[in-house]
Amino acid sequence: VFRWIIEKGSECSCLHIVLQAHRTHIKNMNALAATNRNFKLAARLLGLDSKLERSLLIPFREIKVECTIPKDDGTLASYVGFRVQHDNARGPMKGGIRYHPEVDPDEVNALAQLMTWKTAVANIPYGGAKGGIGCDPAGLSISELERLTRVFTQKIHDLVGVHTDVPAPDMGTGPQTMAWILDEYSKFHGYSPAVVTGKPIDLGGSLGRDAATGRGVLFATEALLNEYGKSISGQRVVIQGFGNVGSWAAQLISESGGKVVAVSDITGAIKNSNGIDIPALLKHVKETKGVRGFHGADVIDPKSILVEDCDVLIPAALGGVINRENANDIKAKFIIEAANHPTDPEADEILAKKGVVILPDIYANSGGVTVSYFEWVQNIQGFMWDEEKVNDELRTYMTKGFKAVKEMCKTHACDLRMGAFTLGVNRVARATVLRGWEA
Ligand code: GLU
Repeated sequence: VFRWIIEKGSECSCLHIVLQAHRTHIKNMNALAATNRNFKLAARLLGLDSKLERSLLIPFREIKVECTIPKDDGTLASYVGFRVQHDNARGPMKGGIRYHPEVDPDEVNALAQLMTWKTAVANIPYGGAKGGIGCDPAGLSISELERLTRVFTQKIHDLVGVHTDVPAPDMGTGPQTMAWILDEYSKFHGYSPAVVTGKPIDLGGSLGRDAATGRGVLFATEALLNEYGKSISGQRVVIQGFGNVGSWAAQLISESGGKVVAVSDITGAIKNSNGIDIPALLKHVKETKGVRGFHGADVIDPKSILVEDCDVLIPAALGGVINRENANDIKAKFIIEAANHPTDPEADEILAKKGVVILPDIYANSGGVTVSYFEWVQNIQGFMWDEEKVNDELRTYMTKGFKAVKEMCKTHACDLRMGAFTLGVNRVARATVLRGWEA
């Protein structure tokens, strides 16, 4: 049927839509299939019992809710929201809430599972979860977004909590979204700032949380380059995605002497082999809402961003972007996964043969959730840390994480992805066994 659709697809626009839907489905199946595959490889390296393996893989709880809101023009609109709580053996489940048109159950499941391994790799006392609403946030007004967030919170409020499941921002959400969730949650349970992280500073957010994922990416990149006797200074860096993570990574890497030679976002892609003036680009993006039209660089085809000539490639946008179609053409020597699951397993194999070193998502982008943990700790302590303490602690966690991943690479003679997966899975498995199964 799929081949028939491909052959006939161009003749009929409705078949074209079917084909698009099918492609999206395949891509999202891959996110979960790829995550499951990496987990199973790690479980095998660790020699896990097959029953334990199965219990670690299946989510603790999957929630699907319908969110109907009146739009500003008075019409009704319905959106489907998800929260997948993957595992809580090591502590409250933790993970962001994503607003994006491609949010679907498989993708949220994959991302929730990745959070379980990520919090374990970071060695913070959490499990993993992820949520999302299938919507295009750019097409909704602020008041529509507020209504949608409040309705979603009403549907999940009794399943999240300071010691059960703590949401945070992800793609398409931010501090304002967290403020609405906190306010709506508090109507049911009393004021509880620690129920979400990534909040505005005025509501108990942590200093340094906004930059944390990007700063963690910088620390992770430094740790990796050090292994190869290199420093960030003078490295030519390409960044795909210029949202919160990509823009902070660009700023901090260029402040550390790295040369950001190309960046892209949904508005376009730009390149300057002499290094883009990042402060000027940040100003442009603030004014125009995108990198397009920036005068200090040339326009390039957004499709070519990942195969641009560079030393370090940082995918900081959607998942599955590095795949069999472009892996062979990648010129970077190092890939730092600031996004979640940007590289699919086929690309992993191709890149390994080419000698490209990949620093995996569950370590490389763990700076965000690590500072979320600091925020939660500050809320529970009722004591605010200064930004220097936050950044120093983050550096300590990222450095320790890298050492622990390397240790697992040595023990299991594996690459960094399997080093991180075996580290995370082993910590969760140990906690699960210690807690036991007695009814
Ligand atoms: N959404 C971020 C992630 O994927 C942060 C999650 C959090 O802070 O809980 O890691």
